[in-house]
Amino acid sequence: MPGCYGGSPNSYFSGVGGFVTVGPQPLDTVMDYLPVFVDLKNAPCLIVGAGSVAARKAGLLLRAGARVTLVAPDAGEETVALQEAGSIRHVAANFSPSMLDGQRLVIAASNDQALNRQAAAAARQAGVWCNVVDDREHCDFILPAIVDRDPVVVAFSTGGRAPVLAQWLKSRLEASLPARIGALAERAARWRHLVKKRFATLAERRRFWQRFFDGPIAADLLAGRTQQAERAMRRELLDGRSAVTGRAAIVGAGPGDPGLLTLRAQQLIRTADVILHDRLLSPEVLDMARKEALLIPVGKEGGGRSTPQETTTALLLRHVRAGRSVCRLKGGDPFVFGRGGEEAAALAAAGLPFEIVPGVSAALGCAAYAGIPLTLRGVSASVTLATASLQDDDEPDWAVLARPGQTLALYMSLHRLQQSARELIRHGLRPLTPAAVVASGTTMEQQVVTAPLAGIAKAVAEAGVSSPAILFVGDTVAEAQRLHWFTGNARPAVANDRQAAATRRAVAFARRATGHAALPADIVASRHAEVL
Ligand code: SAH
Repeated sequence: MPGCYGGSPNSYFSGVGGFVTVGPQPLDTVMDYLPVFVDLKNAPCLIVGAGSVAARKAGLLLRAGARVTLVAPDAGEETVALQEAGSIRHVAANFSPSMLDGQRLVIAASNDQALNRQAAAAARQAGVWCNVVDDREHCDFILPAIVDRDPVVVAFSTGGRAPVLAQWLKSRLEASLPARIGALAERAARWRHLVKKRFATLAERRRFWQRFFDGPIAADLLAGRTQQAERAMRRELLDGRSAVTGRAAIVGAGPGDPGLLTLRAQQLIRTADVILHDRLLSPEVLDMARKEALLIPVGKEGGGRSTPQETTTALLLRHVRAGRSVCRLKGGDPFVFGRGGEEAAALAAAGLPFEIVPGVSAALGCAAYAGIPLTLRGVSASVTLATASLQDDDEPDWAVLARPGQTLALYMSLHRLQQSARELIRHGLRPLTPAAVVASGTTMEQQVVTAPLAGIAKAVAEAGVSSPAILFVGDTVAEAQRLHWFTGNARPAVANDRQAAATRRAVAFARRATGHAALPADIVASRHAEVL
């Protein structure tokens, strides 16, 4: 068991006069490498080779403040540039073991493998650590992959086993480490003596810092609100008044695919004390919350039961007033049919601090994942986001929604599909205007049903689509035929022959409903092909 010293019968273990010595662990349990951070400021370091790889390694050592010498008969362009800039010394000679005198580290980076190995052997004999580029077996140390947010540095390695995995991990770490974490560390260092003065015991100080990094002052620093953080810290430390005021974030979680969360949303979910979340959010998103966070589902349930908006707003205010960091997590974007405006207004009226984080709205997410360009040169010059469900049975302005030359995205339209299609046609849209309903868009359950506008309700009913679903109407919808790319787990919504039959019925219905009795058959057929 790594880290459980003395537990293995093979390990060497002795206790003499109060000292406990733990000997080497069995080989299969030891780490490949011990990660250490080495101070190289002003330390002499030697690089064997002077080509582009050597120059790159020199750059790395220079960043750590080392005094770098490159040895090789000829220097490459990059090395010459470094030398001209006065950063390095180039010794135009062949490597010889005497050059190792006084060196702290060696990197063998020439393109001659035999020379590299010879340098490594000489270095080992001289007791100088050596790294041989791309030759792990001959290395005393390896250079880890790093994410540098100076002074915070994350270094990691796959032990040379999977460089591409290391790249993958690096991009994940880059994404999850706040850009200003270095500045946060600097500030914490600057405030350390004040905290020491304020709290007498180590335990108190530790508790303070634990709260600090999860709390609003750190959140302000990470968001670049330095002055606000300074003021709060002063209040907390000098006046003895607690700066633990709560704060709210109204956060868009996107339409379903957790990959569409913004970085800011992820950070807020990870650090919140309380998450008031829409019920339909995917579990992967909620799994990002801290173990101790309180998760409260609000909003509409699948079946239709819902928390009244006033209850949600009251909960939000209550938890923020209690000093908690509250994340109000909503599907899509909070300001697109998300009632984010009302919740922000309540926070503003109560004088409580808040921020608003946009999310990928259903129209944008579903259009992208269904291959429907929302605008397209010469076809659609604008996009209208609208809903079929207005308050107090108000009717949408169908004449505006039925304008040609645009793409219409109609939210919350599933239960009024037939009626919406009829109104759009009545207000001037061609019955054969391409239409699509995207249900559970961007999730593995995504279903896309396409049909001419006149037949979309029927096609959707036959496919057995359930909410959440969004309706797209406009000529660009026909592009889905060519541009669809995302396949989740759901079977195609309508099998081809059934879909063709549905379209034939839809066209017949359109003719009856609109009096366009004599659509030439070839136009019908070509539209047909376009739409499906
Ligand atoms: N604020 C959200 C919209 C909330 S209203 C946003 O910006 O997306 C709820 C409606 O959004 C649903 O009735 C449906 O029309 C649409 N919707 C949300 N998620 C969806 C999804 N994954 N697929 C299809 N439609 C979705």
